[in-house]
Amino acid sequence: MQRFKIASTLVALAFTAPATAEEIGECRFDRETLTFAGTPVEQAACLLRHVGLQAERTPQALPAILTRLLTGDASPTPAMKEAALAAFPQPYQAFARTYADAPIAHTTAGVPALYFVIHDTSEPFYGDEPFPRNLDLDWRINSFDAYMNGTFGKEPVAHIFLSRYGQVWAGHEFQEAWRATKLESYVIGVPARGRFLHIETVQPRRYMRGYSDRGHTYGPTPGFSAAQYRQLAALYVYASARAGRWLIPAQHDTVDAGIPDAHDDPQNFELERFAREIEKLVSVDKAGP
Ligand SMILES: [Zn+2]
Repeated sequence: MQRFKIASTLVALAFTAPATAEEIGECRFDRETLTFAGTPVEQAACLLRHVGLQAERTPQALPAILTRLLTGDASPTPAMKEAALAAFPQPYQAFARTYADAPIAHTTAGVPALYFVIHDTSEPFYGDEPFPRNLDLDWRINSFDAYMNGTFGKEPVAHIFLSRYGQVWAGHEFQEAWRATKLESYVIGVPARGRFLHIETVQPRRYMRGYSDRGHTYGPTPGFSAAQYRQLAALYVYASARAGRWLIPAQHDTVDAGIPDAHDDPQNFELERFAREIEKLVSVDKAGP
């Protein structure tokens, strides 16, 4: 999520962000094309590096299914889209069916959404208290109230909120252009709005031993539940189908990598588990991808 150190970042960026075309951050975002550097596979490899404790980023192999989807011109088929819709829980499934043929978000210049950004909420925050024993069923952890009631801002901070038992709430429908990273909000500005879709995945945090500031926190292991991987994959296939192409998966931390005070979410994200769930959904269609 994104709620700390905004003021200091604004000051820092005022001195570091030139107005001319240049590549921004570790994955080299181009402010003219609103695209990271390289082919879709190369972009995904940079954006899906493993994000460790204190935002330590390490390369990892791109799962074969993602390499396959992001290579060539094949787009999600109707059968894949239906498989994704069928995987959604109610009431989100009915909501998603209502918008199934609506266009995906675009920037004001008409550039369509291309990046599917995975976050962890880093909430609820437990401070020095231990994490509850059963994260996936805990009422406080999985409540959407704080995301709905203005605790973190006047409007929901992301398109989608995803609880640990797989419940989905759309803070903003996917056709709505909405920003949730420093790259979009403070470096590129309004022209970036609509290029990124944002998924907040519920995962609590607490202080690292010996620390009492929000710059030194950690999440539980495993970080995400099985239901969250399944729904993340369904959301990815569904949003890609609406975009008419395979979106490029990304993470909040890697989108902002190289920008001061970049967030460290998502923590403990297992790329292979996400990929396995995508594989199940796309295998419904033997003709593709
Ligand atoms: Zn985030």
